Amino acid sequence: MSAGAEGAVLVLNAGSSSLKYQLLHPDTQQVVADGIAERIGDHGSSITHEQDGDVEKVSVELPDHHAAIERAMQFFTDHGTDLRSAGLRAVGHRVVHGGRTFFRPTLIDDEVIGEISRISSLAPLHNPANLIGITAARTLLPEVPSVAVFDTAFFHGLPDAAATYAIDRGVASMHAIRRYGFHGTSHEYVSEQVALFLDRPLDEVNQIVLHLGNGASASAIAGGRPMDTSMGMTPLEGLVMGTRSGDIDPGIVLHLHRVAKLEVDQIDTLLNKQSGLKGLCGENDFRTITEKVADGDQSARRAYDVYIHRLRRYIGAYMIELGRVDAITFTAGVGENAASVRADALAGLENYGIVVDAERNALRGKDARRISPDDADIAVLVVPTNEELAIARQSAEVVTRPR
Ligand code: ADP
Repeated sequence: MSAGAEGAVLVLNAGSSSLKYQLLHPDTQQVVADGIAERIGDHGSSITHEQDGDVEKVSVELPDHHAAIERAMQFFTDHGTDLRSAGLRAVGHRVVHGGRTFFRPTLIDDEVIGEISRISSLAPLHNPANLIGITAARTLLPEVPSVAVFDTAFFHGLPDAAATYAIDRGVASMHAIRRYGFHGTSHEYVSEQVALFLDRPLDEVNQIVLHLGNGASASAIAGGRPMDTSMGMTPLEGLVMGTRSGDIDPGIVLHLHRVAKLEVDQIDTLLNKQSGLKGLCGENDFRTITEKVADGDQSARRAYDVYIHRLRRYIGAYMIELGRVDAITFTAGVGENAASVRADALAGLENYGIVVDAERNALRGKDARRISPDDADIAVLVVPTNEELAIARQSAEVVTRPR
């Protein structure tokens, strides 16, 4: 029995110790099931699966991603869906870094795997984990085509001036140093939803998209084309994030090495895992930070202020880069849920045509919505992102494209 899975796409997002999955129909957007395996390869691993309205969580040893996918497949079988014979259209893999090679969704073969592996030096924390997921899925579902969807792809077309770092050209070119940008699937998807919401052709809309999750990035998009984005060669640059510093003076890295005597791996851990909101106030969950700010906690207040300051700096820069802005959109966990962030990020900008309506901003909802007055010059929107749907659609398109 393969209940309702024919033609669906299995989307996999493999992290170093986690695996998120979702089985969905790209055309109808219907989600058959989703789940997450956590602490893979560690003590206390578990997997949570949601299907047919049931949420099941089991604590089970998951030594590797192969075991995690196998256990997920067992859940599907329990629900009458044998993934091997269900007629899946594709397995769509989120791959973080496509380097200079990949800028569109790509059917995976041995050669593509070799190239993703070669690019791993640009994203040592991410690409190897993505590859483990790809290999496991290909072994367990050999009949289903696998497609890689790259987080960098959308930003491949950044203008040269935005993509280029002002360092020695020879060194930059030898080591593939440029701005790649990340969260591209989300920025592209959300920008398309904005045009639909405004009922205007995408190529006429100039917009700023603020993807504020654990990782956070901003983008400037003119007529559907990326003009700038805050993440850089790696996902460390730009906004203040949950545990990542975002922009810092590169001289700090040299100082940490020369004077504080930290090794490169220690600096890597400091900037990626112990900085950002967590470094500033010990917390990286925005809900906790908001509560602490309300309780008068000083370090949470400072973390919040630094976060907002950086966000406003990017919004200002992108307004100037775009010249004319039609929409500013908040998305992802913080952007979709934290009304105070939206209000504070855009406070006092009435002279620029930016107004956040307090009542609209306070309303919660799952759908795209406007939080500015209808007659404001610039539409301020909240648009839920859906990277799984975007990956499923792009994967389905690759396998149906004539070759
Ligand atoms: P990622 O996909 O990058 O892991 P998400 O987009 O899920 O992250 O966002 C996670 C962030 O969203 C966390 O910091 C979390 O605290 C925040 N968040 C989720 N719900 C709320 C809420 N109701 N209010 C404020 N922040 C929230």
